[in-house]
Amino acid sequence: MTPRTGRHFLQIPGPTNVPDQVLRAMSAPTIDHRGPEFSALTLRLLEALGPVFGTTGPVLIYPASGTGAWEAALVNTLSPGDRVLSFETGHFSSLWRGMADDLGLETATDFIPGDWRHGADPEVLAERLAADTEHAIKAVCVVHNETSTGVASRIPEIRRAMDEAGHPALLLVDTISSLGSIDYRHDEWGVDVTVAGSQKGLMLPPGLSFNAVSDKALAASRTARLPKVFWDWTPVIEANRQGSFPYTPATNLLYGLEEALRMLQAEGLPNVFARHARHAAATRAAVRGWGLEVLCQDEREHSGSLTAVVMPDGHDADKLRKIILERFDMSLGAGLGRLAGRVFRIGHLGHLSDLTLAGTLAGVQMGLQLAGVPVDTDGLDAALVTLRDEE
Ligand code: PLP
Repeated sequence: MTPRTGRHFLQIPGPTNVPDQVLRAMSAPTIDHRGPEFSALTLRLLEALGPVFGTTGPVLIYPASGTGAWEAALVNTLSPGDRVLSFETGHFSSLWRGMADDLGLETATDFIPGDWRHGADPEVLAERLAADTEHAIKAVCVVHNETSTGVASRIPEIRRAMDEAGHPALLLVDTISSLGSIDYRHDEWGVDVTVAGSQKGLMLPPGLSFNAVSDKALAASRTARLPKVFWDWTPVIEANRQGSFPYTPATNLLYGLEEALRMLQAEGLPNVFARHARHAAATRAAVRGWGLEVLCQDEREHSGSLTAVVMPDGHDADKLRKIILERFDMSLGAGLGRLAGRVFRIGHLGHLSDLTLAGTLAGVQMGLQLAGVPVDTDGLDAALVTLRDEE
């Protein structure tokens, strides 16, 4: 095979491209995680994380992938047999529900089926909560941005439905592919536990995950009876007050986190969100210009992080991705679960410039043509016009 030149295009919806500054920060020597320098770093990080989550409450950092933070959210707040309401918005919401089930929670009664093209429906939630007059449902779990479908659920409307029903269930939200990419406000939106990961909008490699925790969630954790040891919030929060952890933290990833947070702060979160929304709009313009269909069917729910594209009948999305990888050295996201082979996903989150997106869409357009998919070449032009004209 001819050696590759230039940089690989990593356009999956996470892990995302890690900026050079972050890579450099992580290459510093590992230090004593019980020493004063490290404590100072931990205290600075815990302070700097709050604004990204939109919270003044505790944020816990785990040396784990996002799946660990899912588990932490459940085991710290719930007890065996508790009823959990969740929505089938796609692959990741289904996995989270499966985990809740495996942990001994009751998820079947309150699972709201979906078509993987829409977000969590606040109206259905309102009906379900109104019917639960005994308040048997203890938690509502929502994936903010479904990475398998490119659909972003409307969390403030979910919260409003809970408030209007006067229902005391906890609201647990997965922001693994939205935090640092799509507007999100833990405190203002009344979220009880926010679950996040390092490898997407935070522009870090995989390996860190987070729980942001409300007072109500902390109170629930005092009586929750699911078994927990490593994920237990209490010793982490106590150690964090001193700038330490009750286990060996992922020292070098934390160096990277400090740099990534500095970059997000320098750009300004509203600008970060606007950049993602603009790149998402340009991508949708390309897809529609090619004459293809965006998977997300509700204009209010388009993801700023990624776009899932439906392949026309008779064409295989995995074959297309293989052609694009081999010819243009670009990785795109596969269709997951029931969408395997039927969609491909263009990641446009994290450390991304207009020209990187333009190159990505050019690669997709050429790949579609090579794969024999009938497409209109107006797609790329439409994206370039969006990038040129919308600042
Ligand atoms: N939730 C969402 C929305 C995700 O996109 C992912 C992974 O992509 C996960 C949960 C699982 O996280 P991890 O693979 O980091 O364990």
